[in-house]
Amino acid sequence: MDRQQEFVLRTIEERDIRFMRLWFTDVQGSLKSVGVAPAELENAFTEGIGFDGSAIEGFARVYEADTLAMPDAATFQVVPWRGGEGAGIGRMFCDITLPDGTPSPADPRQVLRRALQKADERGFTFYTHPEIEFFLFERDLDGEGRPVPIDNAGYFDHLAQGDGHDFRRAAIDMLESMGIPVEFSHHEGAPGQNEIDLRYADALSTADNIMTFRAIVREVALSQDAFASFMPKPLAGHPGSGMHTHISLFEGDRNAFHEPGAEYQLSITGRRFVAGVLHHAREISAITNQWVNSYKRLWGGGEAPAHVCWGHNNRSAMVRIPMYKPTKVQSSRIELRTLDSACNPYLAYAVVLAAGLKGIEEEYELPAEAEDDVWSLTDGERRALGIQPLPASLHEAISAMEESELVAETLGEHVFDYFLRNKRQEWSDYRAQVTPFEIDRYLRQL
Ligand code: GLN
Ligand code: MG
Ligand code: MG
Ligand code: MG
Repeated sequence: MDRQQEFVLRTIEERDIRFMRLWFTDVQGSLKSVGVAPAELENAFTEGIGFDGSAIEGFARVYEADTLAMPDAATFQVVPWRGGEGAGIGRMFCDITLPDGTPSPADPRQVLRRALQKADERGFTFYTHPEIEFFLFERDLDGEGRPVPIDNAGYFDHLAQGDGHDFRRAAIDMLESMGIPVEFSHHEGAPGQNEIDLRYADALSTADNIMTFRAIVREVALSQDAFASFMPKPLAGHPGSGMHTHISLFEGDRNAFHEPGAEYQLSITGRRFVAGVLHHAREISAITNQWVNSYKRLWGGGEAPAHVCWGHNNRSAMVRIPMYKPTKVQSSRIELRTLDSACNPYLAYAVVLAAGLKGIEEEYELPAEAEDDVWSLTDGERRALGIQPLPASLHEAISAMEESELVAETLGEHVFDYFLRNKRQEWSDYRAQVTPFEIDRYLRQL
């Protein structure tokens, strides 16, 4: 056992932790949890905990279902939302391995580890800082089965006695008690919509933190008799929930995106990274925006990006170079605005990193900056400027991904095949629906 593992065992004794939860994430981005008695933990650290992987989306096939969860002691935290005196609960994220100890090809955390390893071989550390948007709804749906936002406020509104305000304070207290520092939080543009921004960290910690964040936000909402949703576009006619992510690469303690005197202080490495993300945007879209509903957000307005372009202060652009604090060396970064709050953060960060690294490796040229509100241009004007649309639907996104060597290589064959199979099924289920829109438009008119 190493020192971190010993620290966990000591803490469990000292804080009277009676239950341990081992967390991991399936290919679709759902959090999974296995309970173990603290007495089993020493064994779990050395041998892992066996479970039947065939029960988990995207894990093993039935005939090779034996899978091991290896707890990552560095992620140990005490869970603040359940368990009272003498009934404390701890949790750790796990890496999933096969019985012979090799990384499971189906584990999203291992996919991200592999992508980070590639960055590391080139001397880079990948930092991410997510702005997570989500909705709070009344516990019960309305008479027509639609969600009811808990308030009617808008962007940055301060609610004197509104629930959202209490909600954010309670959520932030819990996040910080689990070692997740919060930078900003505010009401977002739609009724019931909030945003909480996490402090930047290496991408593996960020992805773990996002999974914990979703669990905490759901718990706090339930405790306030509401529910939280990370669905990308729950309300037609209001903005959806993005997970804009600020990105930088460091070489040691030097920010590789920063170059004094360069345009927007963005180094050539930064420019090539952005070029890579733009160049591969369509093929990674099924991962960054993985649901049928994700495309309702991208194409439904509300400051979501729908076109492949960048700008320095252009909120319709897919990549924005933030201009505040431009001279503070370590804060040079880019903001990627496609990601939505319902992506699998491990897979999404893995493909974004791979696209950026490809841009650096192949020395891609960054196209000209989009000066205008790209939404207000005509298709012809956008074509003339070389600005491509993002996929219009999950179906288009799947088709682009199927052809992608970059995505296949980054996800590995198992996740790539499973993901495509699963998404083709989702699309065909959706395609067979008759929607309220059609009933409204056609039933009496045709
Ligand atoms: N909700 C918008 C989106 O979906 C973003 C709004 C904002 O943060 N400016 O991307
Ligand atoms: Mg923001
Ligand atoms: Mg926002
Ligand atoms: Mg933003």
